[in-house]
Amino acid sequence: MQTDICIIGAGLSGLALAVRLIADGRDVTVVEARDRVGGRVLSPGGFDLGPSWIWPQNRRMLALLDHLGLRHFAQYAAGRLVFEEASGTIRRDLDFATMGGALRVAGGLARVTDTLAAQVGGHLRLSCPARDLREDATGVTVQTSDGPIRAGRVVLALPPRLAAGLGVSVPDVPTWMAGHAKLIVTYPTAFWRDAGLNGDAISHLGPLAEIHDASSADARTGALFGFAHPGAARQADFRATALGQLVRLFGAQAAAPETVIIKDWSDDPATATPADQIPTARHPVYRSLPSTDRLIFAGSECAPESGGFLEGALAAAEAAYDSLASGGM
Ligand SMILES: Cc1cc2nc3c(=O)[nH]c(=O)nc-3n(C[C@H](O)[C@H](O)[C@H](O)COP(=O)(O)OP(=O)(O)OC[C@H]3O[C@@H](n4cnc5c(N)ncnc54)[C@H](O)[C@@H]3O)c2cc1C
Repeated sequence: MQTDICIIGAGLSGLALAVRLIADGRDVTVVEARDRVGGRVLSPGGFDLGPSWIWPQNRRMLALLDHLGLRHFAQYAAGRLVFEEASGTIRRDLDFATMGGALRVAGGLARVTDTLAAQVGGHLRLSCPARDLREDATGVTVQTSDGPIRAGRVVLALPPRLAAGLGVSVPDVPTWMAGHAKLIVTYPTAFWRDAGLNGDAISHLGPLAEIHDASSADARTGALFGFAHPGAARQADFRATALGQLVRLFGAQAAAPETVIIKDWSDDPATATPADQIPTARHPVYRSLPSTDRLIFAGSECAPESGGFLEGALAAAEAAYDSLASGGM
């Protein structure tokens, strides 16, 4: 199979780039390892298991939502936070919301990537992992599970640590949030709001370290999500201990969720490598990676700004688009 531009990875970055190139009439093929699009964006039932938030300064994300006709709403922030000390002491007197001002996408962030994927249409190949790349004087051969693809240029729209696994020489850059696990519980109502709580909790006891309100935009379904302490989600009793913690923090009603969904990103090889098992303590400094004539880096961890974030995924797609244009293709 032959194509002008092969994009590896159908996360936000790869999809956003593909849509622009296809609109320009370019010959594009997107190969995606998973049987779904979105990469770290994943929203079963409309609840975000990957990213949840964008911020008012994320101009590219806001413009994209506007363009796609998708609605955003404010992270719920009215009321008090719950603070659990390592000793087990619980405070409910702190009038503070850790994510006040953040925005969420109504129906979940996957609405963004699903809508973009619909525009990419037949240019997309799911369940088609790239396994290896070979660059030569006239092009690049991408070995995939479906056979080789011969491309004029290849865009690596995936974390650098995964690009390294394809034989590409890249600096070792941690993949943002790849070491994390997230739990979502849904309830018939957001009952904590009635008790004057905003759904935020910080816990030094665990197994959840940080909890937030994840209810639907209309609040018809109440939901909380929590980030697990490192390694906690790998424990066999994680679900039970996490629910026990929610009862401690938010009361007896938390014991009867309608659904419980757990996603441990650290054991997903389409996101994390063994080096990502320990979550990064601080946000790494990300920067653009220099392209060669035929290999171009996209993906949020290669963004010229807002690296690691959704906004960075779009910034990296923009930079890759410019790089393809300046390459005369
Ligand atoms: C739990 C969690 C919470 C987060 N919270 C936020 C948040 O609130 N706000 C925010 O801005 N950001 C957040 N992020 C980060 C955000 O998700 C990423 O910045 C963004 O999704 C990155 O998009 P991307 O397209 O660059 O990479 P990815 O989404 O990782 O996409 C890469 C794609 O490449 C595919 N792929 C991998 N290997 C291959 C291969 N060999 N062949 C073909 N395809 C391959 C993958 O399957 C994937 O689809 C969070 C991330 C996680 C995991």
